[in-house]
Amino acid sequence: MPEPCQEIYLDMNATTKVLPVAAQAALEAMEISFGNPSSSHITGLKAKHLMESTRQLAREVLGAGEATLVFNSGATEGIQTAILSALKEAKRKDLPKEKRILLYGSTEHKAVSEALKHWNHILELDAQLLAIPVDHRGILDLTFIKKHIKNALIVCTMIVNNETGVIQNISELEKVIRQPHSEVLWFVDCVQALGKIKINLSDTTIDYATFSGHKLYALKGIGLLYIRKGAPHTPIIIGGGQESGFRSGTENLPGMASLKAVYEIMVDEDNTTFESPETLASFRDKFVATLKKSFPDVVFNNDFECSVPTTINFSVPRFSSKEMMDLFDAASIRVSSGSACSSQAKRSYVLDAMGLEAWQSESAIRLSFGPAMTEELVNIACERLEEAGTALRQNCMILSDQVDDSEVFGIKGLIQLKQGNACSWLYCDEASRECVVIDPLPALAERIENMVHCRQLILKAVLDTHSHADHQSCRLELQQMLSEFVPKDLRLTDALGWPVQLKNKVSLSDGEKVPYLNLGTQVLAKILQPGHTQDSVAYLLGEALSHALTSSAVRYAFLGDTLLMGTLGRSDFKTSSTELMFESLQKIKNCLGEWTVICPSHDYHNYFVTTLEIECSQNELLAEVLEGKCDQSSFTVLKNKHDKQIIDHQNAEIMCGVYKACDSAVDVGEEINFDQLREWLDNNKQFALVDIREPYEHELHHQKKLGNKEVINIPLTRLAQFVSDRLRQGGDEPVVFMCRSGTRSKLASIALRRLGLQQVTHVMGGYALI
Ligand code: PLP
Repeated sequence: MPEPCQEIYLDMNATTKVLPVAAQAALEAMEISFGNPSSSHITGLKAKHLMESTRQLAREVLGAGEATLVFNSGATEGIQTAILSALKEAKRKDLPKEKRILLYGSTEHKAVSEALKHWNHILELDAQLLAIPVDHRGILDLTFIKKHIKNALIVCTMIVNNETGVIQNISELEKVIRQPHSEVLWFVDCVQALGKIKINLSDTTIDYATFSGHKLYALKGIGLLYIRKGAPHTPIIIGGGQESGFRSGTENLPGMASLKAVYEIMVDEDNTTFESPETLASFRDKFVATLKKSFPDVVFNNDFECSVPTTINFSVPRFSSKEMMDLFDAASIRVSSGSACSSQAKRSYVLDAMGLEAWQSESAIRLSFGPAMTEELVNIACERLEEAGTALRQNCMILSDQVDDSEVFGIKGLIQLKQGNACSWLYCDEASRECVVIDPLPALAERIENMVHCRQLILKAVLDTHSHADHQSCRLELQQMLSEFVPKDLRLTDALGWPVQLKNKVSLSDGEKVPYLNLGTQVLAKILQPGHTQDSVAYLLGEALSHALTSSAVRYAFLGDTLLMGTLGRSDFKTSSTELMFESLQKIKNCLGEWTVICPSHDYHNYFVTTLEIECSQNELLAEVLEGKCDQSSFTVLKNKHDKQIIDHQNAEIMCGVYKACDSAVDVGEEINFDQLREWLDNNKQFALVDIREPYEHELHHQKKLGNKEVINIPLTRLAQFVSDRLRQGGDEPVVFMCRSGTRSKLASIALRRLGLQQVTHVMGGYALI
């Protein structure tokens, strides 16, 4: 197998690679100083010396003075201990309820707010949790603290935020916390601050401070809790009385040895491992300049004036965090979306708390590095970032000044674009560059605009299948933005975007003659489909012969909401008619062929596309209508009953048909791991290996072959066309899908198997596990 391209790790706020000296020190602690510090023999004494000399060094690094420094497993444990200690003390004082407030910064790590909730509940303290608001830069609201501090049992703040790198002014905070109410216990999360800004805890009145080894080049599973002299302490782990009873359990010597190695670098002013703040700031400037060049409309979410230089939080308009992560992973750049260490959430609660716009929160990417960053690595990373930007430009995902006239790169045939459950479609005839857009969603407007613009396509029409109730169409907006790409004679349209100028007609299989527009060698015919709404229409795309578009020649049918996957479009709107829907379904039956791929306006289950045969097999009512077992009046009765099951505003949206929860027994088919794939490759097994990622990801990925096998790129957005080709060819050649992590490849497998294409499998874990 070819070597994957060198990984550029820019996610150091999540964790860091252990420095070689720290790894070496840990190894020595395992092999040589492996004793138990509690043992009284020489091996034990050596271990104890290692432990105490690490503590001594930590005292120096943190400016800990006479405080207690307790070794533990990491910051989350330190947070528990600090909060438990403070709340236990409060419990002892038995204060009236109105004097029980737990104050914490709204941008704290989740470990803080969750621990407050947890221990408040366990100790039955019944205190009120109050999140301290922050301003747009993420700086804590001091007036809010001033107002509530006198009734607070604990106040939890942080020095440096993990998502944004924003620094709180500790001496300002200290003034408001201490002036009116000197008794309150103050916890400060210092995890992201160490190594990036100077810390001198004994200069402050902080009661508890937490640190974690793995955030600064030491091992995972080692951390430190600072407890100010005199601050109350309740251990959460009781046992053999290690750490003077503060934290029982045999100590993690390899972890301590790694900490010591890192701290030795920190106290050595002549060290060449950690860069100065000025140099780190120059690295940030280089990253920022490269991001601006690569993604011209990038927006930075943290204010660099009040952030550590090692964290850059940014959003690229029109790209979700997930899409950017896919892009960067393909370029072998590891960054994070929001807070990698705390959740699977799609948005960033930190950016939300700062009041940034929703799209910024949904698109946020965090790029973070550590003080041991090198210029060489920054340069390689910047080159990669530029490559990522270029890949997006070449695929028309972001607009470029230069029009690439070489080929209709990636934009050919049928493209399915999704926003939530709704679908927009773009069909482009490769040879003529003529294209059409169907059911455009506002969130996708600029993406569609870019595609037309950068490939200089001829936009024959922007169409809707009906006036949508659940979302806005951006048809008019697109027609306006792209008017120069629309041929003059096609600019005048009806209410759904159909050019009124089109007079010629093709006949369909049921004999009706309907208007059409040409798309290169294909035609797009319009048929009326009233039912879901009065104005519903459908568009049939295929190759017409002698002015006839026979059912078998209809390649794609854009049916809007008349027929959705697994259900029929609802017919209980004011402008709906079940009687007309019945007739529209008859028309579909007569005009669609066995291999026509149905492209609906919604895809609630990630099935992508469907066929009439599959729908009939899964939708009893539809089957009865099409098989003539149900007349118009019984259809009306049954359909009305059916529509009663529609639950509106599920996920705050109007449903366009009955939503049936996904069948738990979905047919995933065979799932293989990478070892099995390797075996198949070694044995020259016959199959097509398909990278299901987007073209820009495929291009950035440096492995275009696995073993001797060429990897073909069929992005999920082009799955409809792949399905159509497969159904038409009739062949069922085995296919193995792959993607970044195995999620998209699994979706593709399920979708194809649902359509009866059984010879598909996917690689679990995807490229990530190669
Ligand atoms: N606090 C902050 C600011 C963090 O960034 C993290 C980790 O991401 C933690 C606490 C938890 O640290 P640990 O994983 O060492 O428990």
